[in-house]
Amino acid sequence: MKLNRESHRAQAIRAVKTLLRYIGEDPSREGLVETPARFVDAWDEWAAGYKEKPEDVLKLFVDGAEGVDSMVIVHNIPIHSKCEHHLADMSGIAHIGYIPNGKIVGLSKLARLADIFARRLQVQERLTYQIADAIQENLWPLGVGVVVRCSHACMSTRGVKVHGSVTTTSAMLGVLRDDVAARREFLDLCAMAEK
Ligand code: ZN
Repeated sequence: MKLNRESHRAQAIRAVKTLLRYIGEDPSREGLVETPARFVDAWDEWAAGYKEKPEDVLKLFVDGAEGVDSMVIVHNIPIHSKCEHHLADMSGIAHIGYIPNGKIVGLSKLARLADIFARRLQVQERLTYQIADAIQENLWPLGVGVVVRCSHACMSTRGVKVHGSVTTTSAMLGVLRDDVAARREFLDLCAMAEK
């Protein structure tokens, strides 16, 4: 098994050398000798989310949840992901909120949850819904709201070169989808947190 994994890594390193040659570089020059191995190791981190499961992270508490039926929101969670179309950086923030229904989750776990899905190849729309669905399926809260704002390096540095553009996606479930006032409150609180 270990041999297999090592040969996979060796193949990946070879592929990066090929890419370096393709862009007109010399993979054997001093500054680049270690680059393919470093690149592959970096991808082990950037793609670490494939090895993690949301349910292992979302530790639930009943103690402390009594009578809590208003919104719990963690704002400005950093998002570092890669777009699946270009493998380019997709970075920004997420606001993750829910209305408990007898169970709460450690606040830092919401950031961990976002990180699990961000460390996979993504489109922003899917990332947003995966976070919301995982909260829905593990906590069964009264409502879930997720807002993600990211800039996409594939848009700002190539192609149309739209500098400074930011994409917003949102996923609303339960009360936050169905109740206009609750959704308004959630979105207002998110907007306030970004000021
Ligand atoms: Zn892209």
